[in-house]
Amino acid sequence: MKSPMRLAKAEDVRAIGLAPAAEEERKPRLLAKLKELRGSMRSLAVMLDTCVKCGNCVRQCHSYLGTGDPLNAPPARADLMRKLYRRHFTLAGRLLGRITGAEDFDAQTLDAWLTYFYQCNECRRCAVFCPLGVDTAEVTIAGRHLLSELGMVPRFMQQVALNLQKTGNNMGIPKPALLDSVEFLQCEMLEETGLAVKIPVDQAGSEILYIPSSADFFTNVDTIIGVAKMFHALGASWTISSAVLEAANFGLLFNDSAMRAHNRRMRQAAEELGAELVLQGECGHGWRAARLCTEAASGPVRFRLMHVLDYTARNLGRLALRRLSMRVALHDPCNYARAGDLIDEPRRILRACVEELVELAPNREETFCCGGGSGILMDEMMEIRLKLGKKKAEQIQAAGRIDYLAAGCSICKAQLPHVAAHYGMPDLAIGGVMDLVGKAMDMNRSTGGV
Ligand code: SF4
Ligand code: SF4
Repeated sequence: MKSPMRLAKAEDVRAIGLAPAAEEERKPRLLAKLKELRGSMRSLAVMLDTCVKCGNCVRQCHSYLGTGDPLNAPPARADLMRKLYRRHFTLAGRLLGRITGAEDFDAQTLDAWLTYFYQCNECRRCAVFCPLGVDTAEVTIAGRHLLSELGMVPRFMQQVALNLQKTGNNMGIPKPALLDSVEFLQCEMLEETGLAVKIPVDQAGSEILYIPSSADFFTNVDTIIGVAKMFHALGASWTISSAVLEAANFGLLFNDSAMRAHNRRMRQAAEELGAELVLQGECGHGWRAARLCTEAASGPVRFRLMHVLDYTARNLGRLALRRLSMRVALHDPCNYARAGDLIDEPRRILRACVEELVELAPNREETFCCGGGSGILMDEMMEIRLKLGKKKAEQIQAAGRIDYLAAGCSICKAQLPHVAAHYGMPDLAIGGVMDLVGKAMDMNRSTGGV
């Protein structure tokens, strides 16, 4: 099945610093890059060498379960790269060919890669159930990065990357529009609380640099309001940076250089502002990229890096929270639960903020993806996105009546309303974890309030 995904045009790919390959250059360039990646990404060779086709992971993959397409089963997906790897980089594959699973590049190779590496949410659930620890998400990440080296980039991701280059955020918000939005939000908070709760912008000398999702300034405003109220109540010295208004790092999802470039933006902003602590906002893969990349890729930094949910959980004792009369279910974003060490923190926060916390089943490390993970948020992919969200919808339905689904990740917040509406839950309220902190806080009774 050919993907409905639209690719960026060659000139647009060049605009984000990548070089499209002519048709005849594709095979040699792909093999050269795969060889290079095999050397630099040690885990990739392990993933490609290790699978014994036991099938344990197959029925754990929501992509396979939701689409019913056998090529979405994790071992079949990884085989798309594995067969080429065997053919060119293993002795057995070179000598014995197909009986070892080796196959050469052909006219269908790149279409298949584009289709199936972009129907994998890089959620890593398959790895949890693999007795050998094979993580197909690693293969998907490598596959997408190799495609981008040929200039094959989804139009949606190219647009996000271009916005990042120009403005430091995915939505392309220029500083004047940011300042307007900040002023509006401050007025809202003044009206609600009677307090001058600020969202400081580019304040040099602040202890904390907070990196929000740019969506928090337009579609998820309750998330940034919750964060601002918390900092106000704690009397924290904090700022956002207009140069890096984005926790998400789409580079992780399609190109290594783009990932490093956004990570450098964050480092540079923190260093210029003199922040001692960088707090990442509600974004799952952004947190994964920040943890992976910040020191591993470019050396030691002078600031500490933490996630806002961890910071909030540690400060619960200093916040006056009343429990909201709500039945709230928690969705564990894949990158928190399987790549981010953020499992107990959202639960501790929600228990302090609401009367009833409902667990979806399965949860924690075994959580199902929302179906939008890894940036599959393209409009043209909606039919597939809804299939990818089917397992999550079943989990939510099985939880019975809930007043709010807490999803502390911007991609989940963008995807889940579509999933809920499609599967018969159009009125389900969906939002972040910090949103509820803001709603539950009695600001005048919180320690350290200013
Ligand atoms: S990473 Fe997730 S979507 Fe991709 S193959 Fe594994 S379980 Fe399926
Ligand atoms: S569980 Fe692991 S070894 Fe078994 S088929 Fe899946 S990836 Fe291969």
